[in-house]
Amino acid sequence: MVVKLIEFAGQFFPNNCISCGKRLSPRRFLCDSCEALIKGPIPYEISLGKFSARSYWWYEPPVSDVIKAYKFAKRWRLSKLIANWLLYLLDYSLHSESSDYAIVSVPTTLRALRERGFDSNGLVLRQLRKIVDYRVIDAITVAKSGLPQSSLSKEERKAAAVGKFTLRTERLPEKIILFDDVITTGSTITSCANLLKSAGVKDLKILSIARTK
Ligand SMILES: [Zn+2]
Repeated sequence: MVVKLIEFAGQFFPNNCISCGKRLSPRRFLCDSCEALIKGPIPYEISLGKFSARSYWWYEPPVSDVIKAYKFAKRWRLSKLIANWLLYLLDYSLHSESSDYAIVSVPTTLRALRERGFDSNGLVLRQLRKIVDYRVIDAITVAKSGLPQSSLSKEERKAAAVGKFTLRTERLPEKIILFDDVITTGSTITSCANLLKSAGVKDLKILSIARTK
């Protein structure tokens, strides 16, 4: 009965692949051919200078289309798909040890929050916690509101990242996973990583959904 209703609804509210636009059955986000292009997690760490990071897949279609639709076109339900990718990445990178770590996400700038109306990383972590009980700590806050990262050049991003974040709490666990949806130059996540290290975090893992090539 439920399936029939969903099929019925699908005739009036067509559902399309987020990436290629192909018609899909309701509740799906990507078609089989687009899904097959994602072969994550990337099986190696990528250097960020002092730190290194693991990412689920490259920031290219279909992953970049999913992230853009989620962040900029108010497709909030995509947080479930992104949380599932993060879960694969956590299992892959840390195996059974992952529950020893608390997760801290890179915060959304105030301006981006105003524009988008939601904290995109925060919502992904809330979805993750519906599947697995991770400890999530709201440890980092934005010190001054910058322009959204997506509108800045590479050099501007580097400058904007300096001194942008501050810690909300002095007391942090020794083992932390720092999470951001996309790593581009690495300047944002590195400044957050430095902040956590300076607060005494001993074991820091950096994870992202996507990574630019
Ligand atoms: Zn597709």
